Amino acid sequence: MADLRKEIEKRRTFAIISHPDAGKTTLTEKFLLYGGAINLAGSVKGKATARHAVSDWMEIEKERGISVTSSVLQFNYGGYCINILDTPGHQDFSEDTYRTLMAADSAVMVIDGSKGVEAQTRKLFKVCVMRHIPIFTFINKMDRDANDTFDLLDEIEKELGIATCPINWPIGSGKNFKGVYDRNTREIMMFSDTLKGTKEGTEKHISVDDPALIAEIGQDAYDKLMEEIELLDGASAEFDQELVTKGELSPVFFGSALTNFGVETFLQHFLKMTYSPLPRKADIGEVDPFGENFSAFVFKIQANMNKAHRDRIAFMRICSGKFTAGMEVTHVQGGNKKIKLSQPQQMMAQERHIVDEAYAGDIIGVFDPGIFSIGDTLTTAKPFKFEGIPTFAPEHFARVRQVDTMKRKQFMKGMQQIAQEGAIQIFQEYNMGMEEVIVGVVGVLQFDVLKYRLENEYNVEIRMDTLPYEHIRWIENEDIDMDKLVGTSDMKKIQDLKGRPLLLFVNAWSVGMVLDRNEGLVLSEFGRE
Ligand code: GDP
Repeated sequence: MADLRKEIEKRRTFAIISHPDAGKTTLTEKFLLYGGAINLAGSVKGKATARHAVSDWMEIEKERGISVTSSVLQFNYGGYCINILDTPGHQDFSEDTYRTLMAADSAVMVIDGSKGVEAQTRKLFKVCVMRHIPIFTFINKMDRDANDTFDLLDEIEKELGIATCPINWPIGSGKNFKGVYDRNTREIMMFSDTLKGTKEGTEKHISVDDPALIAEIGQDAYDKLMEEIELLDGASAEFDQELVTKGELSPVFFGSALTNFGVETFLQHFLKMTYSPLPRKADIGEVDPFGENFSAFVFKIQANMNKAHRDRIAFMRICSGKFTAGMEVTHVQGGNKKIKLSQPQQMMAQERHIVDEAYAGDIIGVFDPGIFSIGDTLTTAKPFKFEGIPTFAPEHFARVRQVDTMKRKQFMKGMQQIAQEGAIQIFQEYNMGMEEVIVGVVGVLQFDVLKYRLENEYNVEIRMDTLPYEHIRWIENEDIDMDKLVGTSDMKKIQDLKGRPLLLFVNAWSVGMVLDRNEGLVLSEFGRE
């Protein structure tokens, strides 16, 4: 039992969120480097060929050289066992990206210092806020000309609505980047560009009170730093661990992932400011991670990793206890059926490994013969259910029908199975039959995935007409009279497969209009289970 506690206490499970190109992959590589998981940076995302060894489960991935689903990396550092959850971006942005955040205990937000807060960061940030998890900010690319530091912090506070607390402070940027000032130790870590790709290399520290500092960084930079420190100490929020834990205050760090500057400092602070897995909400109250019984929930289902078999891998986040290979658990949403968890897998840096044991905080992927759904609970304890995973708002919609009307059955079966995996959401016209199906996806790539899979796995050709809607809202009011709802000309009423009404809008402005026109109407961006 003491071992169980020790193992779980050293777990840290976090997701990295960012807008594409902010430097998420580069930062992850540097983390792994410190953990000794890989020897040379640059091997996490070998964009074209190298990558396929890891996840060539789908032609689309190969063709485009992108990963359709997110992955998990585990490494050890400083006595901790760290799980990093990747949140895919670009066109491969999907609901999985959001769901990954349900499995994380905290998030690291990477921001490009010359770009500030960008669209995808904003979206992912919303999910972190909904979960009240700690959010850490790493402002990257300081070796390039960055925006004014105060402006960057201001932007984060205003755009994302979270208070910030800089733990260190950059001295200049771009060609004039001299290093970062640690507000706690009052030391400056001098920037040097010699560490590329390795963890070796010496770090030069100098106290802010050391007269030699002026010669090191120059009078102008020194004067500016002094002025900024004074301003900062007067104006910025003080560090408050409790607010950080609640996700109301984001500790901010500056650095340059590419040159490996400020990365280890960040990692060290991060580990100290975060906790091992905390209790998770369930219908029986909170579930203690240190409990003896194993429990986990499914947050992602990845289909067809092997095309020859129609198999799937269900990824689950362990929330309590210990997992051992082949163990028998109760699948609660599967009618409390006892099942054996076979072929468990885990991503260790690059490769997929078969794991024998895993602990609360870890992510494992198990073979799924088609029995799991997103949000399912598995446990060795008396059956209970973890709080469900919300449905996230799709942003792209299309009307879909099968070309060959004789294949209606296969078409519906395929659509429903793919929807069950959570790759797409299906809707229908309000108060009409299933003659035409409306598909909603979070990322446009999912349309291609849908078409590809229906053709290849279900032998059904489809036609897709994209619809102009970009905003979907779930109606929270239980007793709404849809016929009395006063809409806008660009609004469309639809319903999900359970008959619950939803609204589609072309623009955000109409959402506001409809709220104004219908007193008491409550709309939500997240769907309930
Ligand atoms: P991701 O899309 O967020 O995973 O971003 P990547 O890690 O792939 O980085 C995008 C580009 O920015 C790559 O060309 C990186 O080499 C570059 N990059 C990442 N971090 C830094 C940095 O600290 N400084 C500079 N100058 N470039 C960086």
